[in-house]
Amino acid sequence: HARPLPPLDDLVNGVREGRRAMLARAITLVESRKAEHRALAEELMQAILPFTGQALRVGITGVPGVGKSTTIDALGAWLLEQGHRVAVLAVDPSSTRTGGSILGDKTRMARLSMDERAFVRPSPSAGTLGGVAARTRETMLLCEASGYDVVLVETVGVGQSETAVADMTDTFLVLMLPGAGDELQGIKKGIVELADIVAVNKAEGANAARAKAAAGEYRAALHVLGGREAHWSTPVLTYSGLTGEGIAELWTQVRLHRARAEAAGAFADKRSAQQVRWMWTLFDDRLRERLRSDPALRAELPDIERAVAGGTLAPTLAAARIARHFGW
Ligand code: GDP
Repeated sequence: HARPLPPLDDLVNGVREGRRAMLARAITLVESRKAEHRALAEELMQAILPFTGQALRVGITGVPGVGKSTTIDALGAWLLEQGHRVAVLAVDPSSTRTGGSILGDKTRMARLSMDERAFVRPSPSAGTLGGVAARTRETMLLCEASGYDVVLVETVGVGQSETAVADMTDTFLVLMLPGAGDELQGIKKGIVELADIVAVNKAEGANAARAKAAAGEYRAALHVLGGREAHWSTPVLTYSGLTGEGIAELWTQVRLHRARAEAAGAFADKRSAQQVRWMWTLFDDRLRERLRSDPALRAELPDIERAVAGGTLAPTLAAARIARHFGW
């Protein structure tokens, strides 16, 4: 059912004019793993480069049930009211296993997914974390070129996907539950160490006091851990995604984080460093792909691995043998 792709210029212009159908096709192109799409995708990313970078990029994480989709829907709707254009993306490598996506269900973000001013895109549904993160990052740049000035990147609270999202965004927001007796759990897991802002959700009505107590514990723990950046100490807020209380303050902190980073001269540096790391990640991926696609090497690799695992082949020599396949 695939329609032929439009010429590069049409894609670039369509994306820049903010035409949703063209943006969607451009995203499909960068998500494609077909060899014949790859060259065009590379040209596309180069062509849109001058028109990227102007959005505020915010990563959002938290355990399932913490209220990520409720929060993104409330925050996103509020941002639209403020005149922003909001794109919502996701990094969810587990969606390959479950067959669904964390953003697959449109009812999870009822307001945003119905609003023409917002763009909600599910996580790419196949691939490694590296691959999923790669395509999400490129999608983010396409959204920027298309005029979205806020990009919210959601991820589930598991392992390395947080690091991937923190490394493609400016501000990383960690959502927490009030007083589940596990206040320090996130800190133990190292998630809070990535956090630029910690926000305790469900802080309405009878829950408010518990949420404030939890916030106090996080604050104390963060104080002990010290900050990620010299110019910023991670604030801990309470809010309610359900009622919208505290949502505006949450955004104030996001703005403040950016303003402080800019004032300290750290904002552009962080973006530049992210770009360079990004290049190396892509290069590493290519290298591994190349390894896997070399037939002679593929045939030999199991033996090499077995010998290394069995202690009869030194890893040093094994690595040299693999490299020899490429004439290195
Ligand atoms: P996600 O799995 O992190 O995306 O969490 P959801 O947004 O799906 O929310 C999980 C559950 O918590 C749902 O039943 C929501 O209605 C509920 N929830 C989300 N935010 C709030 C809130 O601020 N207050 C209360 N009381 N419930 C909330």
